[in-house]
Amino acid sequence: MTARIDHDALFIDGKWTPPRTDGRTSVVSPLTEQEIGSFPTSTDADVDAAVSSARAALRRDDWAGLTPETRARLVRRFADELEKRAEERATTVTRQNGMPVELARFAEGAAPVQLLRYYADLAESTPLEERRASQPMPGTTIVRREPVGVVAAIAPWNFPAVLSMFKIAPALAAGCTVVLKPSPETTLDSYVLAEAAIAAELPAGVINIVTGGADVGQYLVAHPGVDKVAFTGSTAAGRHIGRVCGELLRPATLELGGKSAALVLDDADVERTVTGLSTASLLNSGQTCYMSTRILVPRSQSRAYVDAITAMASSLPVGDPMDPATFIGPMVSAAQRDRVLSLIDQGRAEGGTITTGGGRVNGVGYFVQPTVFADVDNASTIARQEVFGPVLSVIAYDDVDDAVALANDSEYGLGGTVWTSDEERGIGVARRVETGSFGVNTFNLDWGSPFGGVKASGLGRELGPEGLAAYQQLKSIFLAS
Ligand code: NAD
Repeated sequence: MTARIDHDALFIDGKWTPPRTDGRTSVVSPLTEQEIGSFPTSTDADVDAAVSSARAALRRDDWAGLTPETRARLVRRFADELEKRAEERATTVTRQNGMPVELARFAEGAAPVQLLRYYADLAESTPLEERRASQPMPGTTIVRREPVGVVAAIAPWNFPAVLSMFKIAPALAAGCTVVLKPSPETTLDSYVLAEAAIAAELPAGVINIVTGGADVGQYLVAHPGVDKVAFTGSTAAGRHIGRVCGELLRPATLELGGKSAALVLDDADVERTVTGLSTASLLNSGQTCYMSTRILVPRSQSRAYVDAITAMASSLPVGDPMDPATFIGPMVSAAQRDRVLSLIDQGRAEGGTITTGGGRVNGVGYFVQPTVFADVDNASTIARQEVFGPVLSVIAYDDVDDAVALANDSEYGLGGTVWTSDEERGIGVARRVETGSFGVNTFNLDWGSPFGGVKASGLGRELGPEGLAAYQQLKSIFLAS
């Protein structure tokens, strides 16, 4: 029996602060369906305190006034403290959202530490000022990069630690301050982040954490003390935030949903492709935004691929996410499980053929069987809506032009993959797909390269130097000489 995790305070202004009300949110294990912990639910007054602490830190010499080198040293110290707690954070994420623990050890334990170090190095080596010869009048212009200010960072539950860090690491490295609002399903691990911040002696107010659901997020996004919003979550919420930020003329980075395609070319090796698809299409039990869940296969090889994908999906170990052998854990919540099941039912009702899975796993836990739909029509609901669960659609195509057209016939454009024995041919296909990121025989995010979506998958980019630039405001200073 693992101990409950209960917290009584909020992390505001560099210290544990009593919340302004008695309201609490409980966290339920998706494996046992039992409550495993709780935390105070922030009120508007708590958000006000967090934002004003972040604003005050912006003006103080111990943060925004530091040289990039000194700030980078503090960010590295934060990374070191987080590294000491990486196992605790990873397992806390697994207990909350059911992420298979080996994945959590990398994505939620190690990766946030890597990101802090990456951005500390990058900020240190990126000059804050550049001098340009001006035109058409003779003179010089200094182009300066300044911190954008107070960042409202809003994270989803699927990869809570690393997706928060996509925002926190570049923001801190740029000299911004942050108010983080994690998802209510996955807030407990952010207390580990706060403990690392305290141990690293980050100046007060540089990171603050507020808790709660969409209402708290809405209040934070529209707060007059916020300068930029960085959001990862659903397209519906992203549209709402985009509208609010548009009205306020407030910059926003929006990382939203996806319905990406795997384009399997006729020269691909079936076995290697299907093995690759197990992670490119089903990582984190399918609860990953960039999954290639529409699998486009040559019509002449359709039968062979349906059989191989069915065999792969039905052989994936489903079970306790704390067991390192598990590949498919439970869905994060009963609501998410029911959403996935209802989309499967809709696929069935529209005449879809299910070759494996198609229902819940009997017993305790919010499990859904890995499910494959064969001979899917790209116009059907199961091919158009993001399922966010272990559900794949196999769609036959006639030629590569047809495959590219099918891939692009989607509201979304976040990820995608091509599978081929000819890498150059794969790169040619990659150039034609409307998306923000794409993999040839793989899909691995790269801390040094931008990640984000086109169309309904979002606005702006995270990661890489572009991710740092998103937290910097440009100022031009014109000189007569
Ligand atoms: P969600 O949009 O319901 O919630 C995300 C976060 O936003 C939560 O913290 C929530 O409390 C908050 N929130 C919700 N509505 C809000 C509003 N109107 N204003 C401010 N905050 C609000 O999403 P979710 O269910 O937690 O996450 C799953 C979704 O996230 C999927 O659609 C998935 O594709 C997407 N996602 C995208 C990426 C990406 O990088 N593009 C990565 C992971 C997940």
